[in-house]
Amino acid sequence: MTSVAPKHRRKSVAVHIGSVTVGGDAPVVVQSMTNTDTADALRTAIQVAELARAGSEMVRITVNTEEAAAAVPEIRERVEAMGLDVPLIGDFHFNGHKLLTKHPACAEALAKYRINPGNVGRGKKRDEQFAQMIEFACRYDKPVRIGVNWGSLDQDLLARLLDENAQQSQPKALEEITHDALLESALSSARRAEELGLEHDRIILSCKLSGVQDLIRAYRDLAALCDYPLHLGLTEAGMGTKGIVASTAALSVLLDEGIGDTIRISLTPEPGGQRTQEVLVGQEILQSLGMRSFTPRVIACPGCGRTSSDYFQHLASEIQEFLVAQMPVWRATHPGVEDMSVAVMGCVVNGPGESRNANIGISLPGSGETPVAPVYVDGEKTVTLKGDTIAAEFKALVKQYVQE
Ligand code: SF4
Repeated sequence: MTSVAPKHRRKSVAVHIGSVTVGGDAPVVVQSMTNTDTADALRTAIQVAELARAGSEMVRITVNTEEAAAAVPEIRERVEAMGLDVPLIGDFHFNGHKLLTKHPACAEALAKYRINPGNVGRGKKRDEQFAQMIEFACRYDKPVRIGVNWGSLDQDLLARLLDENAQQSQPKALEEITHDALLESALSSARRAEELGLEHDRIILSCKLSGVQDLIRAYRDLAALCDYPLHLGLTEAGMGTKGIVASTAALSVLLDEGIGDTIRISLTPEPGGQRTQEVLVGQEILQSLGMRSFTPRVIACPGCGRTSSDYFQHLASEIQEFLVAQMPVWRATHPGVEDMSVAVMGCVVNGPGESRNANIGISLPGSGETPVAPVYVDGEKTVTLKGDTIAAEFKALVKQYVQE
């Protein structure tokens, strides 16, 4: 898989999570999360496999109950039996210390633990339960993500910062205190984890908010204050276009500044929608920024009054879906295929030019043009397609190009 380092990637330590490296010189890793009941090992394993096949390089699963913790080893076995080597990350809140105590096989089967310092208890119990989680990470040699979220901010810490702020002659606004509390929660928890014996290169941090500008500011500041790898994600990004655009806006700014070592796009799936969409959006962001290549690039014109029908738009989307569907196999059998480009153009104005510049391209006829579609391979016109079978024939030519 191709990767291009950003011009000025922030320096971070490399953290090894199973077979995947996050931080250091490793490419930015795309991860995702299941939404099945983890206690249902079969359904969860199937969804983990779907996400992994779509390109998710790590998959997080909720571990919230005894039944969920008990199911984790089976999920891992099932996923491995499907021939997939994808690290599973356990997402713990409130009772993680108890679940890891009672389910050592779960502690072993997971490749990383996510700990939310705002959700491990209050007061003295918080410190004890956090320490227990870190002890498990040390005992089983697992990295952790200390994942702070503004929706579940450490209330003791926030109360302390608010008290201190109230004593100041010029108190800060509440948003400023929240910002400070988020960073302090992440950094002080990481410090504590190291004091408890966790190695520096076993810690990843995240600091998630739902506001784009707030998120950018928090990560910029966090990035300047430590060298832990950073997990980026806009929390509660939302549904459909809104979620995709907001996540893209926030993450693109940070990634282009070299900030971020792994990303997760938290989309709320449309009813009946594909969970894998969040993986594809994450890949698209990295590919659009020129940081990684995952799928051949489809160059398609937007269409205009010169297009004779929306046929070419259907063809463009059919080709895109075809390429995405082939990638799990092609990635393994044809390394480098993700770097190729395929043009699907709507008329003679820009069609031949774009098609010649792509590895393989087709220029469909616009209105009033002769109803033929020349195909260009590596800049040369090789064949002209016509009739009802253009889509099928072009897909066959793309396949042939990849195989050759
Ligand atoms: Fe319109 Fe032709 Fe340009 Fe496509 S290539 S946008 S159909 S002018």
